[in-house]
Amino acid sequence: MTHESVALEALARLFEDMDRNYGETARRHGFACHGCPDNCCHTRFYHHTLVEYLYLRRGLEQMTPAEQGFIRTTASQQVQHANACMNHDQPPRLMCPLNRSERCLLYAYRPMICRLHGIPHATRRPDGRYLEGPGCDDFYRQCGPGTHAPLDRSPHYTAMAQLERRLREQAGYRDKLKMTIAQMLLMDLKIF
Ligand code: SF4
Ligand code: SF4
Repeated sequence: MTHESVALEALARLFEDMDRNYGETARRHGFACHGCPDNCCHTRFYHHTLVEYLYLRRGLEQMTPAEQGFIRTTASQQVQHANACMNHDQPPRLMCPLNRSERCLLYAYRPMICRLHGIPHATRRPDGRYLEGPGCDDFYRQCGPGTHAPLDRSPHYTAMAQLERRLREQAGYRDKLKMTIAQMLLMDLKIF
């Protein structure tokens, strides 16, 4: 097996852990993520890991050439539109190019933040700092205002960082990454 295949298999297992942890926490709170009016697939999240980029690309490569072409065209239009908005100091709010009729076309390959968003969360940073973040608006509509036991993201972030470090060492890749989904869909990085 190649270094890339080993890393992507490890990421698939890590995503299973995240999905399980998220599902259990959501059930405990009585929260269900169902096509809410805010739909966070509109949010311009950034993604920073090589391993998540390679995983999304693997999903994309399994689609037909026509589907890939359509997705890349949509992604390209969105990148242009986002650049135009930012040139006019307007925050872009665009639906992710992978969202079709409220469904994610690459659901099994979606990155970490798409899996963890929505539930209040906590993280223990490597420097010992403890950070908490809120859930989405729909979480509080469903579960009520106030404080809720957070989803601990620390083990997932730690496992992701280890996986990323190992893959980068193997590939000799040092560049920093900061990409939207649209940018990931358009990027053609040769790693190995
Ligand atoms: S990758 Fe999928 S889940 Fe993530 S923002 Fe895009 S459509 Fe939504
Ligand atoms: S995580 Fe929250 S904001 Fe995102 S689609 Fe689900 S309910 Fe809506």
